[in-house]
Amino acid sequence: MADIYSDITIIGGGCSGLSLGYYYAKENIGNKKIIILEERDKYSNDKSWCFWLEKNSDFIHRDIIKKTWKVWRFSNSKTIYKHKSSNFEYCFIPSEEFYNKTTEAIYKDERQTLLLNEKVKTIDFTETNSYIHTENHVLKSKVVIDTRPILKDESMEAPVYQIFFGQEIESTSDLFNSAEAGLMEDFQSSGERIGFLYILPFSNNRALLEYTIFSTAFIKPEYLKDCLENNLSIRNIKQYKILRSESGVLPMGLKVNTWNSKDLYLRAGIASGNLRSSTGYGFLRIQRWAKYVASNLSKNISISRNYFHSNRKQNFFDSLLIKVLQKDMCLGENIFLNIGRQMSADRFARFMSDTAQTRDYISLAMSVPKLPFLKALLSR
Ligand SMILES: Cc1cc2nc3c(=O)[nH]c(=O)nc-3n(C[C@H](O)[C@H](O)[C@H](O)COP(=O)(O)OP(=O)(O)OC[C@H]3O[C@@H](n4cnc5c(N)ncnc54)[C@H](O)[C@@H]3O)c2cc1C
Repeated sequence: MADIYSDITIIGGGCSGLSLGYYYAKENIGNKKIIILEERDKYSNDKSWCFWLEKNSDFIHRDIIKKTWKVWRFSNSKTIYKHKSSNFEYCFIPSEEFYNKTTEAIYKDERQTLLLNEKVKTIDFTETNSYIHTENHVLKSKVVIDTRPILKDESMEAPVYQIFFGQEIESTSDLFNSAEAGLMEDFQSSGERIGFLYILPFSNNRALLEYTIFSTAFIKPEYLKDCLENNLSIRNIKQYKILRSESGVLPMGLKVNTWNSKDLYLRAGIASGNLRSSTGYGFLRIQRWAKYVASNLSKNISISRNYFHSNRKQNFFDSLLIKVLQKDMCLGENIFLNIGRQMSADRFARFMSDTAQTRDYISLAMSVPKLPFLKALLSR
């Protein structure tokens, strides 16, 4: 017997769930009752969301962008390539700012309820309703939007994993150039994985440093802690205070399935195609998805299957890249450094923000080693 009723239940109050709730609150049209169930009992500063934005473009979360960089770098032990853009900025939003802003809007919206400490266990479907069971409640809902990254009966088997472990550190001396972000620094290739440092300098003595690998094998991010320390030591970063840690595993090239046989159930979040398969970036895509779905909810339009990232050129390149990496991961260093060397900053930023034009793809194709991509193409 249900003790809570809603039109829509969103499982997971993370980036996707809160973005959807936020856009719905801002639209302020429609009378759908929405419940968001989040298993955490409180939010913390657990993620650093970065993405490229064109200068002066319209973006709903500009107010919580805390740092931007016009220069970003790629490097290995021999070379450094820099992109300098006059049109794009690499932007940073700390997740705690995002959680504060979105939850505040959701709490103010009388149509929505955000419940923390509610871990969803199971869902039962009837012809017309879903019954969502948490440890504390049974919710009856017309539609379920499920943003859990992985379900109980699923494995996160992806062709390539992006795995990272990072620490935000502060030192007494100046160690960083706060005007330049390190996208892929100190590249190292070995067997089934490539590794690099991701450096977000917030000031000259404070930065987030993440040791990141692309790997065909899954490993726990904590195992990268030693790699991070070694790499910092090689860079002579030795005396520092650790302010916080963040880590993650992003499945790249995962097959996505947004609907099951029940039209009452929509899969969302990183398991639904909102994570770019070749890069692991998802924040901007999630914002576009949330805006689209919130607008449909407000207008009472069914939130049906017609939301796709239907950029065929991009999907084509992304799937080829994953194939190439899967076959020979060590090529990654060459591919990414060549992109850093040969593509212009603006072309690269457009590619990374899902807005690449035909000329950008031509430039990309000219930058990558041809033979492995040709082989991957022929093996499709
Ligand atoms: C550390 C990190 C940094 C990232 N940085 C970037 C970046 O810089 N740029 C970028 O574009 N992308 C980035 N990403 C990728 C992507 O944008 C994020 O993973 C984003 O949070 C995905 O949103 P989501 O809603 O799918 O998942 P989440 O934000 O993880 O939300 C899922 C929510 O579901 C909740 N949940 C899970 N199981 C249950 C359950 N059983 N019951 C109730 N709730 C449940 C979780 O607690 C969580 O809050 C990053 C990812 C990570 C992990």
